[in-house]
Amino acid sequence: MEEEPFVYHAFDSANFIAEIERGTISPITFQENTEYSVVFEDGTMETVQSSDVEVQHRHTLKETTIKQHTKYKDDSCKTVWYNGAKCTGCGKLWKYDVIDEQTNKVCRH
Ligand SMILES: [Zn+2]
Ligand SMILES: [Zn+2]
Repeated sequence: MEEEPFVYHAFDSANFIAEIERGTISPITFQENTEYSVVFEDGTMETVQSSDVEVQHRHTLKETTIKQHTKYKDDSCKTVWYNGAKCTGCGKLWKYDVIDEQTNKVCRH
């Protein structure tokens, strides 16, 4: 089975970004056994580490596509792609909506 390329997915993010700036949407709480990666419009990809620090700054938000990969004890896994945003200052992530998801009986990632 071919792995889908991880590409940026454009969406209408104006209201979503405004809500984050108003503080009405909370950032992602990183889950155990789960990896988060993002890809930006220019194709830049990065793995995001948990960021639980309280920050005082005004977030610098960039629209992104988030890939959330969770590995389970039975060796299966689930990957979910979201429209979202990332703060380039503190690294926090916000999810908007689900683009796609995929379950693998055996994780080969
Ligand atoms: Zn921030
Ligand atoms: Zn996997």
